[in-house]
Amino acid sequence: MTKPLSVLFVSSEVYPFAKTGGVADVSYSLPLALRDLGHDIRVMLPKYGSISERKNKIHEINRLKDIPIPVGDTVSLATVKSSSMSNPRTKVQAYVTTNTNYLDAYKGFYADPVTGIDYENNDERFIFFNKTVLQTCLLLGWFPDIIHCNDWQTGLIPALAREMYPEEFKNTKIIYTIHNFGNQGSFPAESIAKVGLPESALESITHNGRLNFMKAGIVHANRISTVSPTYCGEVLAGSELSDGLDDLLKKTPEKMMGILHGVDMMTWNPAIDSLIAKKYTAETLTNKIPNKEALLKRSGLPVHLDVPLIGMIGRLNEQKGVHLILEAAERLFAEDIHFVLLGDGEQEMKQKFAELAERYPHKVSVTLGFDDDLAHLIEAGADMYLMPSLFEPCGLNQQYSLVYGTVPIVRSTGGLKDTVFEYNEETSEGNGFVFNEFSADAMLDAIHRALRLYKQRDTWLQMVKQGMKEDHSWGNAARQYSEMYRSIMKDLE
Ligand code: ADP
Repeated sequence: MTKPLSVLFVSSEVYPFAKTGGVADVSYSLPLALRDLGHDIRVMLPKYGSISERKNKIHEINRLKDIPIPVGDTVSLATVKSSSMSNPRTKVQAYVTTNTNYLDAYKGFYADPVTGIDYENNDERFIFFNKTVLQTCLLLGWFPDIIHCNDWQTGLIPALAREMYPEEFKNTKIIYTIHNFGNQGSFPAESIAKVGLPESALESITHNGRLNFMKAGIVHANRISTVSPTYCGEVLAGSELSDGLDDLLKKTPEKMMGILHGVDMMTWNPAIDSLIAKKYTAETLTNKIPNKEALLKRSGLPVHLDVPLIGMIGRLNEQKGVHLILEAAERLFAEDIHFVLLGDGEQEMKQKFAELAERYPHKVSVTLGFDDDLAHLIEAGADMYLMPSLFEPCGLNQQYSLVYGTVPIVRSTGGLKDTVFEYNEETSEGNGFVFNEFSADAMLDAIHRALRLYKQRDTWLQMVKQGMKEDHSWGNAARQYSEMYRSIMKDLE
C-alpha cells in the first residue's frame, strides 16, 4: 500500500464551525474524504467572535498558548486550540486559532454582518492568522508533507513558509486552491510592510502597487488548483475577473489544474437529510411534495402545490447575477410561479430584495441572513433552482439541486457549464436549463423553457430522476487531489 501523506488543510471557513459559502462546505467534505483515502489530514481555521467554543467542543492545547505574533509594529497573542469535525464514518482533527483583538472582537468573518461592508483591518486579521498556521507547525515540530491553502485568506502562508522558514519547511509541498479569483485580498500599499517579509520578497506579494494575498499564494505554491475545469480554462484564457493575475498563471500553466468539487452525500442527500420535512429518493419522489408544502408555508406563500416553485440561495452580489432577477421582475412575476430566495449581502441589495417581496407578496418570499436549515428545505421543496451567475468557479448549489431533484436553471459559465446540461426533449438527455448570454432576456427564455416542460409531468419527472441518479459525490474529486499530492511529492525525490 502507498504511504499515507500528512496534510495540513487551511481555510478561513470550515463547516460546521464557520460558514458563509461553498468554501466552508469544501473545507469540511474534502478533508474527510481524504481521511477516508488514508491520509493523516488536519484542518486549521480562525475562531471568529460568533463561533461558540462550548458548542464546537474547542479545547486548549498546552503547547500552543499565548504565541506572540507580530503584525506590522505590534505583537498580538494567539492561542491555538483543538477540536474535530466528523461524519458517521470518519473524524478529522481541527486546529483553531483564537485571539482577542483580531478574531473574537468580530462577529462577522470578513464583513460587518449588519452593513455587509468589509472590516478595515482584514489585512492585519489575515496576516495574523496566516502566521499562526506556521507557528503551530513550528511549535508542534510537525512539518506535514503537504500544506493545502485555500483562497486569498491563506495566500500568504506559502510566501511566509518559503521566505521565513525555508529550512524547516524544505520537505513540505504547498498547494494553493483558488475558489474565486474575484476576491484576491488586495490591500493598500501601506499593508505590504505589515507582513514583515524581507525587501527581496516584497515583489512576490505586490500586484498593481498593492498587497495581494492571492499573488503571494500563486508565486510561492508548488501547485495551484481551481475548482472546475471550465473555470480553470476561463482564467487561463485571460478573463478580466483575474485582474491581471492570469498573466502570472500563464507563465506556468503546468502548475495549474481544475478539479470539479462535488456533493457531500452525508450532508446533502434527501434520503437521509434530517433538516427537511420528509425524506425521499428518486424512487419515492412523491415524498418530495410535503417538502414543497412545508417550504411554501414557512415562506408565507399560498400553498398551491401545482404552481411551479423556483428556489435560490446565495450571496446577493454581482457574481451571482441577482440583479438580472430585479431587472426581469415584472415579466418574471407576471407568470404563475412562486419564488423563494435566501441570501445575505450588502445592505443596498438586501433592501432591493425586501422591496421585491413586498411588491409581490403572494409570489415572492425573501429571507435575508444565513440559515442552513432553510437552505436544505429550499433544495428539497423547490421544483427548480435558479443560478444566473455572471461567473461561477464551481458552484455547489446546482449540484445539490440535482441530487434533490430540483431542476437547475443556470448560466453557462465555470462549474455550472461542467455540471448542468440543457434538456433535449427529442433525445431525453440533459438535466436542466442553460442560457449563455448574461442578460435578463436570456435568463427569462431559459425559465420559460423550464415552465413549459414543467407542465408535461411525465417528461419533467423523467428529467428530475435522471438528475438524481447522476453521481455528484466527492469521491472523484478527493482522488484527484490525492493524486495531485502524490505527484508533487514525487518532485522531491
Ligand atoms: P459560493 O461558494 O460562491 O457562495 P456555492 O454554490 O459554491 O456558492 O456554495 C454556497 C453554499 O453556501 C451552499 O452550501 C449554500 O447552501 C450556502 N449558502 C449560501 N448563502 C446562504 C445563506 N444565506 N444561508 C444558508 N446557506 C447559504
